[in-house]
Amino acid sequence: MRRKYMLKKKVALITGSTSGIGLGIAQALANKGCNIIINGLCSKDEAEEIVKDLKSKYSVDVIFAPTNLADRQQIDNLVTIIDKKFSQLDILVNNAGIQHVSSLEEFSDDNWDKIIEINLNSAFRLIKRFLPYMKKNKWGRIINIASAHGLVASPYKSAYVAAKHGIVGLTKVVALETAQIDITCNAICPGWVKTPLVIKQIEAIAREKNVDMNEAEKILLSEKQPSLKFIMPSDVGELVVFLCNKAAAQITGSSYSIDGGWVAR
Ligand code: NAD
Repeated sequence: MRRKYMLKKKVALITGSTSGIGLGIAQALANKGCNIIINGLCSKDEAEEIVKDLKSKYSVDVIFAPTNLADRQQIDNLVTIIDKKFSQLDILVNNAGIQHVSSLEEFSDDNWDKIIEINLNSAFRLIKRFLPYMKKNKWGRIINIASAHGLVASPYKSAYVAAKHGIVGLTKVVALETAQIDITCNAICPGWVKTPLVIKQIEAIAREKNVDMNEAEKILLSEKQPSLKFIMPSDVGELVVFLCNKAAAQITGSSYSIDGGWVAR
């Protein structure tokens, strides 16, 4: 019974884990002994470096899947790759995401489609494809990395806010459909984490307001995040580990804020 909840040798796919929050989650799960599938869009050399680092630090099995989640065929290939290598998938973290900031009238249809495809549709496709593996093993943990923008909105982020609200809704449906099996599905809603996705937004503030990057960071944080501090990718990683623990077996369909108080006001 207890073995079911031991993370050692569980197989975890973390999408968008070559950078930022996803990499923090991969490290936290590897630290608990999970075998890891890294995914993301980066060079072969960068990917090899990440795989080597995780293997040597945590003595776990790690592979890199260069799947572009905007491509359905590549998603099907990813299932085949994982099936061949591990024949199981226990933990699925839908983390990959992109951002585009512009007013509704100027938001291109292409940018809208890209964000919905990567930030929302890919999560649906992966959950659908990997649920049978979890059902077969009678255990599974699905964690969707949403955002504070899955709970509240900001102007100029129409597609991102729509996708993140969508993934919070999808999380609840998956939780209901799996409620009587030992499979849970939860969302995590981070506030600002200093990753390449947010650094671009800090750079935009620095340009617009003609201030240096430190000042731009302060402006970004003070607009939304009452703690005035960035969340660390490792903090999100530890929350993912908690949601995979026995103590979290009855937590399903929830949205966990980790946002320095963002959505409290
Ligand atoms: P990041 O830019 O550091 O990492 C994004 C990852 O997604 C990278 O590994 C990238 O290669 C991958 N990716 C992008 N497009 C892809 C595609 N088509 N196919 C496969 N992989 C793809 O961003 P991050 O800040 O670490 O964001 C990770 C997740 O956290 C996103 O879903 C984001 O919306 C969410 N989030 C971030 C913040 C923040 O402040 N950084 C806050 C709330 C939520």
